[in-house]
Amino acid sequence: MSLINPQAPVLVTGASGYVAGWIVKKLLEAGHTVHATVRDPSKTASVAHLQKIADASTGTLKLFKADLLDQGAFAVPMQGCELVIHTASPFVVTGFTDANEALVRPALEGTRNVLQSVNATDSVRRVVLTSSVAATFGDNWDARDVPGNRLDETFWNTTSSVDHQPYLYSKTVAEQEAWAMQKAQSRWDLVCINPGLVMGPALTTNSISASITTLQQFGDGTLAMGAPCMWNGLVDVRDVADAHIIAGFKPEANGRYILCAESLTLLDMAAALRAHFGSKYPFPRMTVPKILFWLVSPFYGYTRDFVWRNMGWPMHFNNARSREGLGIQYRDVRQAVCEHFQQLIDDGLVKRRS
Ligand code: NAP
Repeated sequence: MSLINPQAPVLVTGASGYVAGWIVKKLLEAGHTVHATVRDPSKTASVAHLQKIADASTGTLKLFKADLLDQGAFAVPMQGCELVIHTASPFVVTGFTDANEALVRPALEGTRNVLQSVNATDSVRRVVLTSSVAATFGDNWDARDVPGNRLDETFWNTTSSVDHQPYLYSKTVAEQEAWAMQKAQSRWDLVCINPGLVMGPALTTNSISASITTLQQFGDGTLAMGAPCMWNGLVDVRDVADAHIIAGFKPEANGRYILCAESLTLLDMAAALRAHFGSKYPFPRMTVPKILFWLVSPFYGYTRDFVWRNMGWPMHFNNARSREGLGIQYRDVRQAVCEHFQQLIDDGLVKRRS
C-alpha cells in the first residue's frame, strides 16, 4: 500500500502512444508534472499534441528520449518520481517478419529495463503497468470451459508463444517479469491494468496501434464481404486512462484489474457503426462461415490454427474488480467505436464509399 505524493513528477513511458496520450492529458489537466518518455522527442508528429495539451493545462510536461532496448535510458526521466506508469510496448499484429524482435524483446526486455531503473531509483513507490487481457488468455477457445466463458484476473495466458499469438505472448511474459521483479523487493508495489481492445478518439494521428488498424478494416472494405465471428472485449480509452491514474494514486489499489466494458463481435461493432453512419461505408452485414474462412485464412495473413481456435468462441470478461476497486463506471463502447470511426474519417484514415 503506497501513498504517492501528488507534487512529485509522474513518469509515463511511451507517451506518444494512443493510450498514453489520454493518461498524460488527464495527469496534466489535474495539475501533475509529467515526465514523458518517447523514442524521438524531436519528431513533432509524436509530441506536438502533448505539448499543446500541456500549454492549455495547469500541469507541466517534460519530454525525455528513451528506447525500451536502450539500457538505463529511463534512469534520468525517473529521477524524483514516486509513480511510474509504464505503457510503452509495441501493439502490432501484422506487418512484421520476426515476432521476437518486433514484439517480445521490446515488451520483455523493455519492462525489465524500466524496472531495473525503478530498483535503482529510491523515490519510486509504485509502478502501474499497462498489461492487457492478452495476459489472461491465448485464444478465445481457452475460455470454452470457463463458466459463462467469462475470464477474471485469476487467469493467465498459458497457450501463446512467439510463433502463435506473439503479441499476446509479449504481454504475458512482460507482466510475469514485472511481478517477479516486484516480489524480489519491498520498496515499490505493482498494479497491472489489463485492458481489452481499446476504442475511442485518439489524441494523435501518429499511432500505429492495432486499435486503429482494427477499426480501419470497417471502412476500407476488408470486411465488406463479411466478418469472421470473433468476440473482443472492448473498453473506452478514457476509462483506461482513468484506471491508470486511479491505480497510481489510490493507496489500496493492488494486483491486476481487467478493464473491459463489454464483449462485442465484429458484426456487433458493424451494427453499431451502421446505426450511426448508415451505409456510406462498407460495414459487413454477415458472418463469414468459419470453414470458408479457415480455408482461405493463409491468404489473408492468418494461420488456420488461429482461425480454428478463435472464430466462433465467445469470450467475456469479469470487470467487477475495476468497478469495485477503482470505481470505474464504464462508458458505452458502441459510442466509443463510433466516435473513433468519426475521427478516422476526419483524419482521412478511412474514405467514404464513392
Ligand atoms: P501505440 O499507440 O502503438 O503505443 C505504443 C507505444 O509504445 C508508443 O508510444 C511507442 O513509441 C512505444 N514503443 C514501442 N516500441 C518502443 C521501444 N522499442 N522503445 C520505446 N517505446 C516504444 O499503442 P497503444 O494501443 O497506445 O498501446 C499502449 C499500451 O497499451 C501497450 O502496452 C499495449 O500493449 C497496451 N494495450 C493496448 C490495447 C489497445 O487495444 N490499444 C489493449 C490492451 C493493452 P513510438 O511512438 O516511438 O513508436
